[in-house]
Amino acid sequence: MKETVVSGIRPTGQLHLGNYFGAVTNFVKMQYDYNCFFFIADLHSLTTHPTPQDLHGYVRHVLVEYLACGINPDESTIYIQSDVPEVAELYLYLNMNAYMGELERSTSFKDKVRAQPDNINAGLLTYPTLMAADILIHKAVKVPVGKDQEQHLEFTRTFGNRFNRLYNNDYFPEAFAFNYSDNLVKVPGLDGKGKMSKSNGEGSCIYLADSPEVIRKKLSRAVTDGGPLTENQVKPEPIQNLFDLMKIVSPADTLAHFEELYNKMAIRYGDFKKQLAEDMIVFNGPIRERIEGLSGDSDYLRKVAEQGAEKARESARKTIREVRALIGFKSF
Ligand code: AMP
Repeated sequence: MKETVVSGIRPTGQLHLGNYFGAVTNFVKMQYDYNCFFFIADLHSLTTHPTPQDLHGYVRHVLVEYLACGINPDESTIYIQSDVPEVAELYLYLNMNAYMGELERSTSFKDKVRAQPDNINAGLLTYPTLMAADILIHKAVKVPVGKDQEQHLEFTRTFGNRFNRLYNNDYFPEAFAFNYSDNLVKVPGLDGKGKMSKSNGEGSCIYLADSPEVIRKKLSRAVTDGGPLTENQVKPEPIQNLFDLMKIVSPADTLAHFEELYNKMAIRYGDFKKQLAEDMIVFNGPIRERIEGLSGDSDYLRKVAEQGAEKARESARKTIREVRALIGFKSF
């Protein structure tokens, strides 16, 4: 039997190249080897109080873009978290055995307290229990997440094991982080510092749905410097970032050509960025076409969401039925 994998993404808008190369391409490959549940974490996103319109739009974006990238709804289970109320029920049960002290010590909670001191709600505090519910509801054993999520997975194991001890059984398996692919790429942003991320500003990101004009404009504004000062010098971060992006989207000989120009101090950043923009446009082209096709197809999206919810609920209902019996909720 295939092992069960669960992965969620918070709907915060459109997917960018970082999401694509850092996560979604692996999901597409993984779905044939594992029993995959990919969900859109709209319950999690309520901690930031999105407007109903924004929330719905963001969820739709992720659904459309997951499909456009090649996640196959007949192969894996793709669903919207709020369509599966069993998740919220398990969250409640897990919260009964999650302690204030441990939740307050979570690094992500402490980060949020610093970032949004006027909105420290209980949902933020119990984020790890909701994440545990997402994973345990399908009794998943593998979760494709990065190092930053390791602590949340530890919480998931703690809560699962605590449940098992309390009710004297080994119902929940332990879930561990895993990398499907060895070459995990970190996609840099266009702003000269760090990774591609919405929190580094819109200009840092190339979205999968960006039009050629937008891509050209963003690249023309990408941060560079005054040019190399010596031959074969180490590239400063903004320049290295653009070369790293070129390595991801451009043919190898294009990269080699610009590497050589840089090393000979003959590079013209204008040409370099134009080429990078054109290669990104070529890369994005087919995905963008599929995004455009799917965006207007509400009937298909509804069908996919319903099919995903049904498959996810089948698995979730079984877990909740068994959990209720273990807790002692029985009919007379
Ligand atoms: P986020 O939208 O930042 O929560 O990210 C969703 C998924 O995309 C996570 O699995 C991240 O690891 C991945 N991701 C986001 N940004 C990048 C990036 N710049 N490089 C690689 N992976 C990324």
